[in-house]
Amino acid sequence: MPEIKPRVELLAHTPDPLSLIYAAFRQCYHAGEVADMWPSLTCGNIPREKQAEFVAKIMESGHASPIEHVSFTFAISGVSRALTHQLVRHRIASYSQQSQRYVDASNMDYVLPPAIAANPRARERYEAFMKEVGNAYRDIKALLEEDGRGFSSREDARMVLPQAASTNIVVTMNCRTMLNFFEHRCCTRAQWEIRGVARTMLRLCREVLPEVFDHAGARCERLKFCPEGEKFTCGRYPLPEKRG
Ligand SMILES: Cc1cc2nc3c(=O)[nH]c(=O)nc-3n(C[C@H](O)[C@H](O)[C@H](O)COP(=O)(O)OP(=O)(O)OC[C@H]3O[C@@H](n4cnc5c(N)ncnc54)[C@H](O)[C@@H]3O)c2cc1C
Repeated sequence: MPEIKPRVELLAHTPDPLSLIYAAFRQCYHAGEVADMWPSLTCGNIPREKQAEFVAKIMESGHASPIEHVSFTFAISGVSRALTHQLVRHRIASYSQQSQRYVDASNMDYVLPPAIAANPRARERYEAFMKEVGNAYRDIKALLEEDGRGFSSREDARMVLPQAASTNIVVTMNCRTMLNFFEHRCCTRAQWEIRGVARTMLRLCREVLPEVFDHAGARCERLKFCPEGEKFTCGRYPLPEKRG
């Protein structure tokens, strides 16, 4: 079970995302049919800056449903099951995750937390345990196979796998969910692994749709104060009671 590093790739996003959001917003306030406006949006007759300005102004009002029409799909791999357990708590999203029932984990990779990597004794203990887990998985799978449990031996042998076991997942979120996800998971209070993945996802979203994501991030980026309280604040922004 060798150590593995995370990989986050943007597989796809809704085409013409800014124009689509603009069109959805305009339909709310426009007497005509937005389908008639669509060609002039995508061919550049209504400049991107004008669309962006309109979108930014309406978003400030809290009218957020138009941004739900644009989605981003990521392939996230080389992350722990501990990370994906947190990720899938974000319910307004779609997921497809590598199955431990079907995929043989005899040589499964694992995630090594940086704090453990930096402590030689903790690292030695951790790596020894990962080795033992790998041996246990293979032994149990082989014993079940002797009992005639062919392919399905994996679904029981997997019970010994640790939260550190590496996994791959495809996730699709719309822009509104993405903003909520970044508010929760870009904050320094979030666990280091999902925070790293969230920050990479945010960078990729910004490259495609800066008009929506330039000011996205932890809640403090929007609030300009830290809502996490004295015990958990990282100090980047003042606590509400300490603001001038
Ligand atoms: C630092 C941190 C620590 C955490 N610790 C824990 C923990 O100890 N234990 C734990 O169980 N979880 C924990 N969580 C998970 C957290 O409680 C949320 O489940 C998770 O962040 C998903 O957020 P969400 O519900 O906003 O997202 P989504 O599920 O994507 O929902 C998006 C939004 O839709 C609305 N919504 C969705 N479903 C409902 C519903 N059923 N009813 C009403 N509104 C709904 C809400 O407005 C919600 O914000 C933690 C999260 C963080 C960031």
